[in-house]
Amino acid sequence: MIVYGDNEAYPSVNITNGCTNNCVFCNLQKQVKKYKEKSWFYLEKEPSFEEVWNEVQKIDFSKVKEFWIAGAGEPTLRLDDIVLPLLRKLEVRTSMITNGHANMIYPDRNVAKELKQAGLHDIEISLNAENPEKYVKLCRPRLNYSPEEIYLKIVEFACDCKNNGIYTRLTLVTCISPELVDGKFMPDVDEFEKITEELEITTKKRVFA
Ligand code: SF4
Repeated sequence: MIVYGDNEAYPSVNITNGCTNNCVFCNLQKQVKKYKEKSWFYLEKEPSFEEVWNEVQKIDFSKVKEFWIAGAGEPTLRLDDIVLPLLRKLEVRTSMITNGHANMIYPDRNVAKELKQAGLHDIEISLNAENPEKYVKLCRPRLNYSPEEIYLKIVEFACDCKNNGIYTRLTLVTCISPELVDGKFMPDVDEFEKITEELEITTKKRVFA
């Protein structure tokens, strides 16, 4: 399903099944793998911009307060062919949920600036841990960078977004079952908030991925 969400004021689009993480707590990716076509998050194929736009045009925008680019995968994997052209066309407040890997996926670009110029208002970036070691245990990134580099690149991307005038939140999931991480590597909310306070970026706690 491309467009989803029960609240007409906050519709969301799901634009890819792909992700550069494999988080231990990711219900979305688990649903995609387990239920395939039965999951409403599952996309039978990666949609084209035209397919996404056709679905978006069915939304009653007179009721929309904020439009979300989110879904079961990582939206920036479809940056050029869907995210940026979609943002340029939308005339409502927009928000995106991302794993924050953009500066590693596109190392020669200033993605935050491009998102701002295309019209993005808000972004939620999943940092999920207060240090690199915990981050890789929880999020199991599939990137050719060291844990420290990955963590710093996510923080760098968050600062880029904030400095480009996008309202930025760093998020963490607070309801992870301890057995998923052998009772270890649970995020420490207080330590996480110390980091976000230092960065002057708002923390958002999630109860699901
Ligand atoms: S970053 Fe999001 S979509 Fe990707 S595996 Fe983690 S929770 Fe799932």
